[in-house]
Amino acid sequence: MPDSTVDEIKSKLNVEEVIGGYLQLQRAGRNFKACCPFHNEKTPSFMVSPERQSWHCFGCNEGGDIFTFVMKIEGLEFIEALKLLADKAGVPLQKVNYENKGEKSNLSDIVEASKKFYKECLKIKGGKKAYEYLRGRGLSDEMIQKFELGFAPDSWSLLSDYLKKKGFKEKDILGAGMTVKNEKGRIYDRFRGRIMFPVNTVAAQTVGFSSRIMPGGDESSAKYINTPETLVYNKGRILYGLDKSKIFIRQKDQCMMVEGNVDVIASFQSGVNNVVATSGTALTVDQLRIIKRYTNNIVFSFDMDAAGVKAADRGIWMALEEGMNVSIIRRFGCRQPAVRSR
Ligand SMILES: [Zn+2]
Repeated sequence: MPDSTVDEIKSKLNVEEVIGGYLQLQRAGRNFKACCPFHNEKTPSFMVSPERQSWHCFGCNEGGDIFTFVMKIEGLEFIEALKLLADKAGVPLQKVNYENKGEKSNLSDIVEASKKFYKECLKIKGGKKAYEYLRGRGLSDEMIQKFELGFAPDSWSLLSDYLKKKGFKEKDILGAGMTVKNEKGRIYDRFRGRIMFPVNTVAAQTVGFSSRIMPGGDESSAKYINTPETLVYNKGRILYGLDKSKIFIRQKDQCMMVEGNVDVIASFQSGVNNVVATSGTALTVDQLRIIKRYTNNIVFSFDMDAAGVKAADRGIWMALEEGMNVSIIRRFGCRQPAVRSR
């Protein structure tokens, strides 16, 4: 990575603004101070210096620049922190030939392009029905936009035609999981006549989708279909909503685990934003360890039907084994949670 890119990003971002996006900073002379997010304290010993564009904690002796801060607080690798901050600074990274650029980044470009396509489709023809369905389930326009929901038209090739026109190759579109190849070698769009939920990494990069069949759609096909494992989509390590909720999880020092995508979105809408869901898998140990970067306190809020009880039960034992503090909210229907902790 050429230093010039790192320097350009640093020159465009103030350390106090970047850190102020995560912590409540108070002015202290020429510096700013806050309670340190990396150790437990009641009086602030975490200092931010605009002059030196650096931060330092006199309690735990951690310190560095915006990159080390973002890596540490978001639990990211350098390259992920770089992407996040480059985005914030408006510095294009495409010009940079870092090692990962290649097949992986090509696949994420395909997923990103698909997301745009699906979002556009939500506004036209068949998509309007999907939009009305989402609104009918009580989701606001704001949330539909925030979570970038979309619609996959009921067609065998609309998406792949669109992607090919954009210059993407058939084998890469297949590799990104956007199409399926049948036994006869015919390739067609994986998602057809479905409501689309983009699934993001913790660094807010879209790497796949989960989808729901349109109500009244082709009942012979599965109700929920997800992107399969790809080079960029590792299901067992992704939590739906975490890119948006991680800051709140850290602030509240608690993570709510709900069952599905719509539960996450509805929860955000009602103001409870320290929430995640697994996407298309049972909860994994990897996912719990990712949550532990932000908090050690987990609350399971699952439906108390048989499947919900079973899923919660497994998750609870795994979380306890990981040394987390576990609480349970039992939901009967959606409205009246009876809270019980242990
Ligand atoms: Zn500290």
